Amino acid sequence: MVERCEICGNTIRGPTDTIEVDGGLFKVCSTCSKLGKSVKLPQKNQSPRHFISKSKPINRTYEDSDVELRIDFNKTIKSAREKKGISQDEMGKRINEKISVIRHLETGTLKPNDMLSRKLERFLKIQLLLPEEGEE
Ligand SMILES: [Zn+2]
Repeated sequence: MVERCEICGNTIRGPTDTIEVDGGLFKVCSTCSKLGKSVKLPQKNQSPRHFISKSKPINRTYEDSDVELRIDFNKTIKSAREKKGISQDEMGKRINEKISVIRHLETGTLKPNDMLSRKLERFLKIQLLLPEEGEE
């Protein structure tokens, strides 16, 4: 990775120095390091893996679980909701989901994850997760 001195703009070869100038921190080359007060930054011992684990998968698939989401889940949700006689907005409030989530579920653009499926199943008294077929 090529680092550039934040003061003179030259490519920094070798270790960079961090200096403080007027309260701001600059990453500089060794020549410019004389222009300000040298600062020792605390070393952060965070492995890159730490960041990866923070992001959770959003679109979970059911390929490797023993249940799968029914293909017509959106129609199932919509008709069950209409049978209950409540609006998307009201259902969202009842199951604590945003109305946009409900809308996307019913248009099929959003697949409910395991937890949301179970919640919808309980609330609408429907079955969304079906036992996986095809395996003997
Ligand atoms: Zn410089």
